Formats: sequence, structure tokens, C-alpha cells
Amino acid sequence: MPERQADQPSLLAEVSERIRRDGPMPVDSYMEACLRHYYRSRQSIGAGGDFVTAPEISQVFGELIGLWCAVVWESMGRPEPLRLIELGPGRGALMADAVRAGRALPGFLNAIAVHLVETSPLLRQAQQAALARAGVPLAWHEAVEEVPAGAAIVIANELIDALPIRQLVYLDGAWHERVVALGTDGQLQFAAGPSVAFSGSVAPTPGAIAELRPGEEAVLAALAARTEPLIALFIDYGPVEPALGDTLQAVRGHAYAEPLAAPGLSDLTAHVQFTALAEKARVAGLAADGPMTQAQFLGGLGIVERTARLMAANPVRAGEIEAATQRLMSPGGMGQLFKVLAVRSPHLPAPPPFG
Ligand code: SAH
Repeated sequence: MPERQADQPSLLAEVSERIRRDGPMPVDSYMEACLRHYYRSRQSIGAGGDFVTAPEISQVFGELIGLWCAVVWESMGRPEPLRLIELGPGRGALMADAVRAGRALPGFLNAIAVHLVETSPLLRQAQQAALARAGVPLAWHEAVEEVPAGAAIVIANELIDALPIRQLVYLDGAWHERVVALGTDGQLQFAAGPSVAFSGSVAPTPGAIAELRPGEEAVLAALAARTEPLIALFIDYGPVEPALGDTLQAVRGHAYAEPLAAPGLSDLTAHVQFTALAEKARVAGLAADGPMTQAQFLGGLGIVERTARLMAANPVRAGEIEAATQRLMSPGGMGQLFKVLAVRSPHLPAPPPFG
């Protein structure tokens, strides 16, 4: 096992001070402050970190996405340069595997320029190391708005779940902003803040919680603002249909933690609501295909065949390779919980395996 990293001081003192000064913090402000600290200071992803993602589980994940990108590029009419953009690339595993697999389509690697949108300096370093020998032009950006013009394919695996959510709580016949307050014992606690106008598609019962993620509109608007052809793939966890409920989740050292304990030291995420995300894409002027489950998506891209080939080429690692694919596809786990949504310029055809 890799060594566990030592904990930095938490943000508790800073958050408490801010609440004393400005009053209770809406959940999105709290999440934003925690995540900014977290991604800047902790080696979040991998066995020695807090959580593991699909590209870290199996190289097949990134490889299939790389082949998908090459096929989509061809269906776009082989534009050059193609901006291959990844939002929140983590440790760079997905992009490294995707580029390697992309060699299978002649001309593809010569056409692409890779753009990595990453706010964490620690993760940028890991991405640089993972992609050092990729043999394609690489550029890093703070925000997707900085990526130069040109036809684009955008990949975002577990990015949206890390964008801050607002929570509204339904009490006394009205919705209230859910806030983080200071208890008399000095501990952080959730409370109901000012009432807000909101009408969701699900009828609330007292105590119900609704989640809103304004950062989704911002990402989609930035994509819609690009004038040249674009296809984006959002892969994340959450339900297809709109649902009420508190899904704010803290993970630390591969175990669930309390979101208000040790602020800034655990990864905070919340479900992505896929029907809402697709609707927001349409409102922004883009077309949306799906969502489908991760198992349907990877199955449609030929994960079974690719895994079998990889196993045959690496007999010593065959068991491990098969187990990793099963984990990505498992009906009671990632295969079902994770969904894939494609978002594209309306004049482009739906990409495989949606079309
Ligand atoms: N896609 C990677 C990592 C997922 S973790 C994988 O599958 O392994 C979330 C990633 O999003 C991290 O790289 C994190 O630093 C990045 N991130 C979080 N908020 C971001 C933001 N607002 N803009 C850009 N990147 C962000």
C-alpha cells in the first residue's frame, strides 16, 4: 500500500471565523471553500489518496474514449486542429490512455491539440508527468473559456459532481436556502436560512431537500459560445430522473466522512441530475443525447472485446484486467450508478453509441 498522506490543518477555524463575521454560509459557498482548499492541498485521487475513478481502475476506460474521440473526429469531417479538451483531468490517466489508443486511426494524433482545464496545481503536475510522452501538443487552462477557437471534443469524467451545489430545504410550506451555521458548541451544523422562490418538478414533503448546481449552466454556456462544431461527453454519477434528497457526500481515505467534519480535508461531491443537465444543454442551444448508463455506453463501445484482447496480450494480468472491467460495468455499482450524456452542436449527428 502507498503511504497515506499526513493531514493538513482543516479549514474549521477559517470557516467558523467567516460565519461569525458574515453569518451562516449557503451550502454552495461552503462546498466551494472546502474544495478549493482540498484540491490545492491534497493528493486526492488514487490508492494513497481519497478516491479512485474509472480511468484509474482500468486503462480500457480511457482507451475506449480515445477510440470514440477518433470516430467522432472522423464523423465531424476530420477538422484540423481538433481541440481535444478535458475538464478536470485528475491525474491524466484518461487522456494518456485515450491518446495512446487514438493512434489506431491514421491522422488523428496529427490533428489534435490537447487542452487540459484544471484548477489544481498538484493535479496539473500529475497530468504533465502522465502526458510527457504523449507526443501531442498540450496546454493547460484555468477555465474552458480560455481554450482557443476550433472544432472541439470535450471529455468530463467526474467533473460536474465536484461543482458546488446549493441545497434548499422545504419547511413550513416554503423552500429555504440550506446553510452551514455555528452551533453553541462551536461545531458546524446545517440550518435553514432565508426563504427562496423555487418550484421543482417533484412535490416536496416537509424536510425535503432539493439540490441546484448553477455551475452547470456556466459550463454549458461556455461550450455553447464556441462557434465551431463541438461534441462533449459528461460522465458522472447520479439519477436520470429529477429526485429530491440530500446527496452531499464526503470521502476521505476511501471511506465516507461527515461533510461538516474537517472541512477542506475530504472530497465533497453530490449527484448529477442528468435530465436537468440535458435540459440545460438544450436551453443553452446545444443538442443532448442520452443519458445512458456507463455499462450501456462502454458495452456499446465494445468493452467486452477490448478487455478480451488485452487479457490475451497480458496473460499474467488477465485476472486483474477482467476484475477491473467488471467493476466499471457492475450492475449494483459503477455500471448502473454512472451515466453518460453527450452534448453537441445541433447540426452534428448523434455520436455512437447514442445514434
Ligand atoms: N476526471 C478525473 C478526475 C475527477 S476528480 C478522473 O476521472 O480521474 C475532479 C477533477 O476536477 C479534478 O481534476 C479537479 O481538480 C477538477 N476540478 C474540480 N473543480 C474544477 C473546476 N471548477 N474547474 C476545473 N477543474 C475542476
